[in-house]
Amino acid sequence: MTQRRENEVPHRERTRRVMIGDVAVGGGAPVSIQSMTLSSPVDVASSIDEIQRLAEAGVDIVRTAVPNEEAAACLPELVRNSPVPVVADIHFNYRLAIAAAEAGVAKLRLNPGNIGKPERVRAVVDAARERGLPIRVGVNAGSLERDLLAKYGHPTAEAMVESARRHVRLLEDEGFEDIVISLKSSRVPLMIGAYRLAAEEFLYPLHLGVTEAGTPRTGNITSAVGIGTLLAEGIGDTLRVSLSADPVEEVHAARTILESLDLRRESVRIVACPGCGRLQVDLIRLAKEVEARTRDIRKPLTVAVMGCAVNGPGEAREADIGIAGGRGEGLLYVRGAMVKKVPESKIVDALIELIDEVEPDPEGGVRGGDQVTWTPDWDESIAPTP
Ligand code: SF4
Repeated sequence: MTQRRENEVPHRERTRRVMIGDVAVGGGAPVSIQSMTLSSPVDVASSIDEIQRLAEAGVDIVRTAVPNEEAAACLPELVRNSPVPVVADIHFNYRLAIAAAEAGVAKLRLNPGNIGKPERVRAVVDAARERGLPIRVGVNAGSLERDLLAKYGHPTAEAMVESARRHVRLLEDEGFEDIVISLKSSRVPLMIGAYRLAAEEFLYPLHLGVTEAGTPRTGNITSAVGIGTLLAEGIGDTLRVSLSADPVEEVHAARTILESLDLRRESVRIVACPGCGRLQVDLIRLAKEVEARTRDIRKPLTVAVMGCAVNGPGEAREADIGIAGGRGEGLLYVRGAMVKKVPESKIVDALIELIDEVEPDPEGGVRGGDQVTWTPDWDESIAPTP
């Protein structure tokens, strides 16, 4: 297992840049978020509705399965009405890939080794090249070629990278290089190892994912560990969190992973204390409510939810807006300065109002007293409840 050497330029800054519609992937572009529709592709209205919800949650690119000609025939309407680029997910049938390209999708996800004769690969490559579409080669540890399983004994990182190499070569042999690679496994150490190896060999953008990660309860954690480890090493240009849940949950999880690594900063980040015996408000309910009501707000602010007025204010100082629970009430702080005292039942409403008023710090980063950029309506009579 090879670690990235110090001083080496991160892989994601060295990868080839491809365009998926108007979304740049690779070459140091912001790490993009992908998801996949659950709706039947022939139910265009439901698919569009789902894509709309995903876009509102912050998805950049959406993939849809194209299992047959009926689905391919629905793609033009889907593409026309989608607010984000649509990727066609194709298995085995090269004609469907060509139909998807003609329908206006922004990328094809297919493995050229699975579509048969070289003429078919050439026909797909020609269709993609003509329209400037990248192709994602997607290796899955659960469906490796038989000869690779025989050679390596079981799915290994080396076997996965060898599988990717085969598919990539088929495209390169046709002079095609707008390639994205994924190497997914439900086993986190395996996917991490495979992506690390791939980053040593390829300069194509890498699409990260822990496949079949499960329900949000476990899937969010395994995805954060697998995807987060690689992102922290500078590996990964785009990602999908795969959950057995409403795909909107995938987008929220992906955003949280990226924001926790400061790779994106566009929504409200909640920090909340764990609570202890000093609690004087219902902290868990409060934190959950704050999270639910700020989830769709696109403003890069940090909100600290602290359970008491003893340690809360100090801890909230690093945030843009802080709440410290008092005895049945809440104190609200803006960048360290207390601005309001409200009853517990009004804390969240008051917070939402403040979020509306406070502008993000253009410098971002850690807060300090000299970074106050908002003049609060100071009420000298307010004093923390001891
Ligand atoms: S902020 Fe107060 S309630 Fe929360 S953990 Fe710290 S001391 Fe306990």
